[in-house]
Amino acid sequence: MSKITGKTKMCMIIGDPVEHSLSPQMHNAAYKALGIDDEFVFTAANVRIEDVEKVVEGVRVLGIRGLTCTMPHKVEVMKYIDEIDPIAKQIGAVNTVVNDNGKLIGYNTDWYGVVEPISQMVGGDEEFKNNKFAILGAGGAAKAAAFGIVNKGGQVIIINRTLDKAKELAENINEYLGVEVGAYSTEEIERVVDCNVIFNGTPLGMGELIDQSPIPSEYLGKPDHKIIFDSIYHPKETRLIKEADRGGDFTIFGLEMLLYQGLKQFELYTGRKAPEKVMRKILSK
Ligand code: NAP
Repeated sequence: MSKITGKTKMCMIIGDPVEHSLSPQMHNAAYKALGIDDEFVFTAANVRIEDVEKVVEGVRVLGIRGLTCTMPHKVEVMKYIDEIDPIAKQIGAVNTVVNDNGKLIGYNTDWYGVVEPISQMVGGDEEFKNNKFAILGAGGAAKAAAFGIVNKGGQVIIINRTLDKAKELAENINEYLGVEVGAYSTEEIERVVDCNVIFNGTPLGMGELIDQSPIPSEYLGKPDHKIIFDSIYHPKETRLIKEADRGGDFTIFGLEMLLYQGLKQFELYTGRKAPEKVMRKILSK
């Protein structure tokens, strides 16, 4: 039986489209596991971009505790909230809005979704700094990855189809963090061999591009076993992940990014430690 009462606080995700989102199941299962499903409930709404301002007003008026923003609202929502966390400002996107007694504060948890699984795989934050990272792409996922990694002390290069966008991201990082970042076009994809962690932030491997991989297989695998992190989570195993596996590289699925950004978000909304196992199970179904 539902435990929702007049005191239950609401969190929700907005996007366009949003029906495919696993956030409601993931957060509601976590509330239940912690026995706080009388305190919180998580729903979803399909919202057109021109209505985001009204939604933010609604969050204030209704006292909604958390507003998760997915495509295409992560940039638009920034115009209407009261405060933006420094790293979200650097990345230029907010996916998490916390309503703190009427003050709306925006965060970005995507960077954590990239950095945390890598940090765990390399053995901690100190070891993290000793790695050279290649980010493929210069869009939303790549920006979150690049700022997250540089903030954590990793050395980064950016490789993107459109060189100007790679350069723009590198310049932004330099401006905010005072760190030099190399920017290259995909014609220089062989530069990945000098890096030991590679993050794919392009859609090569999903949808119509499902048969493609951003890295020729000759650059994967031995002799220096890399970590290959594909942000794509549908399909779970992309061509890149399969080829990296075959070559003996270590791999991180896009589902880990989705999970870890969600764990961080759960903690921001509830102030409690997220139940990782329960949330992972929902994503693995
Ligand atoms: P985005 O902002 O549109 O950026 C896409 C990037 O990929 C751009 O740098 C673009 O290069 C490049 N690209 C697009 N098509 C390409 C092609 N055919 N060949 C080479 N490069 C191409 O997209 P996004 O939101 O960052 O999403 C990128 C990927 O991240 C998607 O696969 C998405 O599923 C994934 N993602 C995963 C999570 C997660 O939680 N796991 C979260 C967010 C995103 P140009 O600059 O040249 O256009």
